[in-house]
Amino acid sequence: MRNILIVLSGPSGAGKGTIAKKLVQRNPELVLSVSCTTRAPRKGEKHGKEYYFIGKDEFKSLIDNNGLIEYSEHFENYYGTPKSLVEKSLKDKDVILEIDVNGGLNVREHFSDVVLIMIVPPSLEEVKNRLIKRNTESLEKINLRMERISYEMEKSKDYDYTVVNDNLISAVEKIEEIIKLEKNKEN
Ligand code: ADP
Ligand code: 5GP
Repeated sequence: MRNILIVLSGPSGAGKGTIAKKLVQRNPELVLSVSCTTRAPRKGEKHGKEYYFIGKDEFKSLIDNNGLIEYSEHFENYYGTPKSLVEKSLKDKDVILEIDVNGGLNVREHFSDVVLIMIVPPSLEEVKNRLIKRNTESLEKINLRMERISYEMEKSKDYDYTVVNDNLISAVEKIEEIIKLEKNKEN
């Protein structure tokens, strides 16, 4: 069976991070790629776990040295996928990337075995409630993230699958089925 890159994208608050963590817990053969970002850590986030938290100069030098598979800017910060770990892990495992829609479409241009999965919330009201409950951004920042939702949802037409994250375990199981199906496909 071939090893694949599984990209999870979707609006902020849709549940990408929660789903990615569950997938890795339930499937030890999956590796979750840790991105680099210039944004500040949220309460409880640790360097090397949720992200590599780096400065703008270090980020720029990664770009200049071709150290990133892709990168983009969101909400005034940079986010990018480090190349070395992904390439190394793909030799014997499947790798999950939790990145935005433009990042996902860029990755497809560089790797052949990529599955693009859009995670969507059951409703706009529910995603706003989840972001408020998560309590990691001010209301002003939550509203900025809400404004970007329609753009991200619009891009789902270019993705291979869309999964609604209503019940967490059902969403995780759907993604596990997709991975199984894609891994068994002929090249
Ligand atoms: P994202 O990574 O897409 O920004 P998170 O994974 O941080 O989203 O989820 C946003 C919030 O919603 C978190 O507080 C998380 O615990 C909660 N959440 C995620 N999935 C569900 C779900 N299926 N039902 C209810 N709450 C959820
Ligand atoms: P957050 O600040 O909520 O952790 O992430 C903001 C956005 O950045 C999310 O849409 C998330 O998917 C995206 N993101 C996280 N890591 C990367 C990455 O490495 N590359 C790209 N292009 N987007 C990323």
